[in-house]
Amino acid sequence: MAQRLPILLNKKPCYDIVFSQNFDDLWLDLEELGIANRRVMIVTDSNVRSLYAEGLLEALQGKCLKACMFSFEAGEEHKTLDTVKEAYKVLIEEGFDRKDLLLAVGGGVVGDVTGYIAATYLRGVDYVQIPTTLLAQADSSIGGKTGVDFDGYKNMVGAFYMPKMVYMNLSVLESLPREQLVSGFGEILKHGLIKDIAYFEWMREHYNEVWMLKYDILEEMIYGSCKIKRGVVERDPMEKGERALLNFGHTIGHAIEKLSDFELSHGTCVGIGIVAASYLSKIQGNITDKEFAMIEQTLAQFGLKTSVEWMDAKEVLAVTKSDKKMVGSKVKFILLETIGKAYIYKELTDEQILEGISYVLES
Ligand code: NAD
Repeated sequence: MAQRLPILLNKKPCYDIVFSQNFDDLWLDLEELGIANRRVMIVTDSNVRSLYAEGLLEALQGKCLKACMFSFEAGEEHKTLDTVKEAYKVLIEEGFDRKDLLLAVGGGVVGDVTGYIAATYLRGVDYVQIPTTLLAQADSSIGGKTGVDFDGYKNMVGAFYMPKMVYMNLSVLESLPREQLVSGFGEILKHGLIKDIAYFEWMREHYNEVWMLKYDILEEMIYGSCKIKRGVVERDPMEKGERALLNFGHTIGHAIEKLSDFELSHGTCVGIGIVAASYLSKIQGNITDKEFAMIEQTLAQFGLKTSVEWMDAKEVLAVTKSDKKMVGSKVKFILLETIGKAYIYKELTDEQILEGISYVLES
């Protein structure tokens, strides 16, 4: 029987996160969402299509009014309004109306794009997240942040729009390339660092078993990560305050991601951003040299890069400051008060930010 984690919003049940070893329970859950009388469109990317989406499409036939698929080229560079526009065209051609349903089958890119299509097509249709990367299972599929990049700026256009369910089949992680697993570890370790030292310690203790992809350990890790994110999302669904803490490592991370032309994965850049933000926390006197070294070592144990080559510190600063996490002319930084507790800080000077950036740039 699949394990479930319910998400409440305004103290009312909003949707469930379902953890499973297969897709067996998906059909019962979809039946409960009334798919028998609805059109269903799977949204996926060019890699996940043949791996999982085609099988799901076949299994859907006969279970709903109509089943179809929209797939786009894999990669962050396709997380754009052009992809959204192509999907709208298919939805119109297939006669989708407001009571129909979208299924996001893929990683964070598919999840963010599908959520945005769902939020905007006919002013909102239902969608379900079926995340297939570690990053999407442990983080991006939870919490209803949807959107696309615009002109190279990350997540510039988007909406808060909650799914009707998140169904994760953990066995799909077996086909995930190592670098994508590593990318997921970036966000997972972030959750421990900002909110839960015990979870961070658990990750440190179990890294060998995690690497062996043992089902029970994976489930415990992903469940723990989702639980931390759930707490934040339940308390601050629209990012009026606390939810911004989830951007730990993202401020400089997004700038590096953009300057790498999205060649470096999101989680990899978050990992480098975490080192920079932890370094800034150290020079603010919040964490010790020893704690900082331990954070760097843990990221490295999980295969994450802790520095980046060929970037210019001033350029990284300029892009950091042009990102949307600005308050007036100040950058909204997330720093560690201690391991397991983060806070928002808007008073870092350009010189201090440059110091953090320079630390992660290989000269
Ligand atoms: P991704 O969606 O690009 O997936 C990475 C690669 O793995 C792709 O090539 C994909 O085709 C492939 N893939 C997916 N599942 C697979 C599987 N089971 N086996 C083999 N290959 C598979 O990237 P991602 O890391 O999943 O997500 C990154 C995105 O998530 C970024 O755009 C980031 O901004 C976003 N994000 C969103 C939130 C949020 O709250 N909405 C949070 C964090 C990150």
